[in-house]
Amino acid sequence: MTVSEKIVVLGAGFLGVNAALDLVNAGKQVTIIDETLKHQYIPGTVDIIRNRFQREELEINLEEFLPEQIELKEATVKDVRPDEKTVETRNGLIGYDKLVTGLGGAPENFGIDISPAEHAWGIKPAQKLSKKAENAEKAVIVGAGYVGIEVAGELTEKEVETTLVEANTRPMSYLDQKSSEKMLEILHNKDIKFKGGKQVSEVAEGSVTFTDGGEEAADLIVWAAGVKASETVKQIFSTGRKGIEVNQGLSAIGYNDIFAGGDCVDVSGQKTAHKAMKQGEVIAENIVSNSEPLNQVESEQNFLIVSIGDKAGLIFQNKLVFSANFLRHFKDLVKTYYFTRLKIKKKLFNADFLP
Ligand SMILES: Cc1cc2nc3c(=O)[nH]c(=O)nc-3n(C[C@H](O)[C@H](O)[C@H](O)COP(=O)(O)OP(=O)(O)OC[C@H]3O[C@@H](n4cnc5c(N)ncnc54)[C@H](O)[C@@H]3O)c2cc1C
Repeated sequence: MTVSEKIVVLGAGFLGVNAALDLVNAGKQVTIIDETLKHQYIPGTVDIIRNRFQREELEINLEEFLPEQIELKEATVKDVRPDEKTVETRNGLIGYDKLVTGLGGAPENFGIDISPAEHAWGIKPAQKLSKKAENAEKAVIVGAGYVGIEVAGELTEKEVETTLVEANTRPMSYLDQKSSEKMLEILHNKDIKFKGGKQVSEVAEGSVTFTDGGEEAADLIVWAAGVKASETVKQIFSTGRKGIEVNQGLSAIGYNDIFAGGDCVDVSGQKTAHKAMKQGEVIAENIVSNSEPLNQVESEQNFLIVSIGDKAGLIFQNKLVFSANFLRHFKDLVKTYYFTRLKIKKKLFNADFLP
């Protein structure tokens, strides 16, 4: 009798859930370990700020959703022991033949205590942010990447006077000058102030201080300064803040039988849910084919949709920038499409024509 190899997936985010469904559809034995066993649609958490969506619309309970053939363990991952091929959780050890790591990231704080600030990283923090915004007159958002800008758009719709502060001299500085200029134009039209070249050195209740000695006061401070590897990932894989090093086939460099992707890996460009989902699918393909050379993640075109409140937004595709006023609603459709896609993957598993 052939004993199927055991694949353990760490984290039930975009990477983990998509990899797990593809693996079980291909006949693999799969276990997911996640600290909540809830799959959150994090790109939609900004919609909590104005109560456009509630928790139920952004979260799937995996114990109800996933096929019962996927074993689920609700546990916090503490360590991985590659030599013994085991994962250490707070509830004990779990063995694996192949490991898929999708533990996500954490807000990049550059060593600063950001606890007085709010953020939108997950449903609960976004609910807290939303509540605080009810009584806020003025908000400062640290970080003018796409997340900070979307949060600024939502707060402005709530009539909170909003300022984006950014260490770089232009918003979305990872894109070209023309894209930043277009974004500045929209921010201006929306009455969202932008202050560039401002590096935050301290966050306190009611104000942020900059390295140049200046200060910006606000009754709501939101932190949106990017993503770094979580402390757990840094410790387990001895990585820097950018995360686990992987090759083009998403195999962790220096480890046997460990794949990794999503926000916990060190890849160039913006980290997005779309990339994490695609990477999960490539990892599943590579585990199923079990042969060299590994399939590689396609080098991603720069594609990003940024909505700024209800009636403004930009679509970036490589060097092209398009302006559109329906993007908040378009992003609602993307969410519906994503959840439908997951349901189809799950249905494939139950289909009669599969072995
Ligand atoms: C406010 C906000 C808005 C965003 N908007 C967009 C957008 O519009 N479009 C877009 O494409 N991307 C967007 N992103 C980025 C996107 O959400 C991430 O890139 C994506 O979630 C990464 O997927 P992942 O699977 O790597 O990690 P995650 O989705 O974060 O999943 C990680 C999983 O690991 C689990 N976990 C973590 N640590 C442990 C542990 N120690 N033990 C057990 N389980 C653990 C968590 O519970 C979680 O389920 C946004 C991000 C934020 C914060």
